[in-house]
Amino acid sequence: MTDVRRLVPRTDAVLADPRLVDATGRLGRDVVKAAVTEAQARARAGELAPAAVPDAAVALLPERATSLRPVLNATGVVLHTNFGRAPLSAGAVQAMRIASAYVDVEYDVATGARARRGRGTLDALLAQVPAAQAALVVNNGAAALVLTTTALAAGREVIVSRGEMVEIGDGFRLPDLIASTGARLREVGTTNRTTVDDYAGAVGPDTGCILKVHPSNFTIEGFTSSVDVADLSRLGPPVVADVGSGLLHPDLLLPDEPDVTTALLAGAAVVTCSGDKLLGGPQAGLVFGAAAAVERVSRHPLARAVRVDKTTLAALEATLRGPQSPTWQAIRADSDDLRRRTERLAAAVGGRVVASAGAVGGGSAPGLALVGWAVALPSSYAERLRLGSPCVVGRIDKDQCLLDLRCVPESDDDSVRDAVLACMS
Ligand SMILES: *Cc1c(COP(=O)(O)O)cnc(C)c1O
Repeated sequence: MTDVRRLVPRTDAVLADPRLVDATGRLGRDVVKAAVTEAQARARAGELAPAAVPDAAVALLPERATSLRPVLNATGVVLHTNFGRAPLSAGAVQAMRIASAYVDVEYDVATGARARRGRGTLDALLAQVPAAQAALVVNNGAAALVLTTTALAAGREVIVSRGEMVEIGDGFRLPDLIASTGARLREVGTTNRTTVDDYAGAVGPDTGCILKVHPSNFTIEGFTSSVDVADLSRLGPPVVADVGSGLLHPDLLLPDEPDVTTALLAGAAVVTCSGDKLLGGPQAGLVFGAAAAVERVSRHPLARAVRVDKTTLAALEATLRGPQSPTWQAIRADSDDLRRRTERLAAAVGGRVVASAGAVGGGSAPGLALVGWAVALPSSYAERLRLGSPCVVGRIDKDQCLLDLRCVPESDDDSVRDAVLACMS
């Protein structure tokens, strides 16, 4: 009688399978070996034939080297914070891949000497925003703001309107952030109204800067007033404007969204924003402004602690120089086109087409409803779609699961359809 356990192939024999050799390069030896060990154990337990061990090991491998799972965003929310905000363009992805190896990020190939880090990206920023004399890239918008106020006002006062003492997203509270920089917050005005005299009355020898923050994720209506950058910049101290979303120029589609160029032309010394909101690039914080002010910010020791990596610089440059980003493609998606795609999906899965207002999201353009459509399914589909492969996340609305294709690349429409059909069977 042959003991089946003797026929189970040895570990090194299984690991020599070309598919597992290839997987070892991507996933690492430990992960592949664990899959082989598991397959061998199943064979010894009689659950599979000894000859099937290599196939079983391949089937047990994780699909990807990251635990991050791709999501088909069928929520209609373009900059979804939980999904990592802006999806990158093909050009930005390619740039990131190139930058993931050795690159001349801080090296001059002509002379063999050190060169200015990320110079191509800074040039691209200034080409897009000629109103700025200098620019700097840091880790995110919060870091841009912390670094700027630290450099300009540590140990002194930052004057801010009470109408702009905001919380932007989870746990990002402006007063706490400023307090962490060693600057003192000098609040002026009230929640709904602040006048130029309120600011003027607070300006003194201890003023480090005046901060103007765009309260990007809510709107207040009624008896309100605030002071614009032009009036603030006449008061003397440098004005720092945090425009938040990273719109570089005014955009007719988003009339209430402040932009970098307008704030600079109005006299702001420094303008800060995010790279992965309306700019549609990688997570980054941007600092634009007058040469001397940006120099002061970039020379502060803290700048080194919030420096971005080469892949971010690469993706940002590709976003700035490249075609319309996926973010803007989704925001500007043609409503007839969306309807055609939505009807096709509805016909294939037997759902109903309903009007669906998309949103910019990510704390940008809070009042704006983007005209679009969705396939309405029973709410019970939501969980099955989330747990399926690919993972599809819809929007729950009035006990329905709405699938809005605005943020789904058209090339993935069939995947959404198949995911829904899989939930039905
Ligand atoms: C989003 C936002 C920030 C924070 O930017 P992050 O890139 O998320 O760090 C700061 N200020 C405003 C006005 C914002 O909208």
